Amino acid sequence: MRILVIEDEKKITNFIRRGLNEEGYAVDTAYDGEEGYFLASSEKYDLIVLDLMLPKMDGISLCRKLRQEDNITPVIMLTAKDMIKDKVAGLDAGADDYLTKPFAFEEFLARVRVILRKRDFSKTTKLKVGD
Ligand code: CA
Repeated sequence: MRILVIEDEKKITNFIRRGLNEEGYAVDTAYDGEEGYFLASSEKYDLIVLDLMLPKMDGISLCRKLRQEDNITPVIMLTAKDMIKDKVAGLDAGADDYLTKPFAFEEFLARVRVILRKRDFSKTTKLKVGD
């Protein structure tokens, strides 16, 4: 499992990376939207953890751009904001889930597992008809 974390606050990025590494996930990090977009579109990830407020390109634009290019990598959006309109904007931009900072790492991990489980399910489920 390979996860890309795009977050400009290094303390949070390191915290997330350490926690995910401990769970056995491989983690790449990017500290601004352009670098994150470059990695997200040139490498294969199982999940992207995307901050909303980023230098160079914000999380909403980044997510929208990936979806427009048919990149279906699941996205969990992170933000300090908890306004309903920001959540809606994130989900409408193509995010699969949304977590407001500060968040409990246990909850974050649970959401990561849900998304990876869904992804595995859709990848391995084949519909067979007749022969
Ligand atoms: Ca940020």
